[in-house]
Amino acid sequence: MRISIPSIPHNGNTRSIIEYTVPQAGEMVAEFLRRGRRKNLIMTGAGVSVDSGIAPYRGENGHYTVHKTYRPIFFHEFTALSDKGHTYRQRYWSRSYLGFPPVRHALPNKTHYSIAALQRLGHVPEFITQNVDSLHHAATPSPSLAAASILELHGTLAYVVCVSRLDGTSARANRGDGRAETSFPSSASALFDPDMHARLALPHLHNPRATASHWSNTSTGSSYAPGCGFRGSRAAFQDVLTDWNPRWADFSAEMAASNTLLKTNPDGDVQLGADTNYSSFMYPPCPSCGGVLKPAVVFFGESVPDELRDRSHALVASSDSFMLVGSSLATYSAFRLVKQAVEERKRVMIVNIGPTRADPIVPDKIELPSSDVLGNAAKLLAGSMGSSDPVLKHLLESGVKVQPTRRVTSS
Ligand SMILES: [Zn+2]
Repeated sequence: MRISIPSIPHNGNTRSIIEYTVPQAGEMVAEFLRRGRRKNLIMTGAGVSVDSGIAPYRGENGHYTVHKTYRPIFFHEFTALSDKGHTYRQRYWSRSYLGFPPVRHALPNKTHYSIAALQRLGHVPEFITQNVDSLHHAATPSPSLAAASILELHGTLAYVVCVSRLDGTSARANRGDGRAETSFPSSASALFDPDMHARLALPHLHNPRATASHWSNTSTGSSYAPGCGFRGSRAAFQDVLTDWNPRWADFSAEMAASNTLLKTNPDGDVQLGADTNYSSFMYPPCPSCGGVLKPAVVFFGESVPDELRDRSHALVASSDSFMLVGSSLATYSAFRLVKQAVEERKRVMIVNIGPTRADPIVPDKIELPSSDVLGNAAKLLAGSMGSSDPVLKHLLESGVKVQPTRRVTSS
């Protein structure tokens, strides 16, 4: 299963949209979840992060709508063991450097907290997100609960992972001049860059050569990336990029100071002008083996890791009902889960503003803001517990709503 550039196929289907009020829709969702008898599965998409200030791909202000010609980087380009691959990585990391701060500093909104409340009430034991912004994790009361119960279908921006295997197939890294061909240890016990390792490595990862299967802090991390095993913090990586690229850091600071956002997509990538010079941009190699570090998100043209794919299908199979929230299902990896739920005769409901790929196969759809609908449903289901349980009370009352920021093009 590979991720290709998403689009919603036109199916010519005309459906009559039933208009609900928010209280009606909240009651419908509450009843839907009650009937699921604590075996409900929710899957979310980019639409749920809009209130947190992260632009979706589609819709009126969506990335693909605003940028008709935008083309994301492909996995084989980013990981290529060549000068061209190095150029792709410079281009990616420079843009990602500018696009990451808004994602890094984004806060969960009412939809994230409402789902966390539904989980605390026992209605939604586990859920799936296509988002890579970690906002569901941020809204969940305990990090270990989040790690155990949230499946990030397309990976996460929270980490960088090494994609170079220790079998000699390492890639050229950039130590500054962009030309030096570095030779990497194929199975060395010594770390490539101990200081950088200390700076980037996740604190709980004691064994620098730990393989992927040892890294079970998140469902994503437990299965992602067949590299040398190194995993680091994307936030710490960002701080290294700041130190190594002062001119880009100044530019980023100016953007922040003027409260201006470049066009940022949900992956934390930005659109820069065609004449932008990336060739001086410096990024660190894997501090463990000297290979290529990549954000732990599933790139276009990359396969969803088998373990994530298998677990997502198992979650659908073991659920009684399935609710899709804030997604147009443009990627097939997400659509196939809804398709599976329909084929296995689960009850399925969609809460999304705008068309989705599953509209022809799912009759029950609510086209209202998920923050209102899920917030309402969570309060109804909580009842008096909503005031007696302080954690639940907090979840029901929390959530930011970020007004759209002024956006400019840099070209
Ligand atoms: Zn490595």
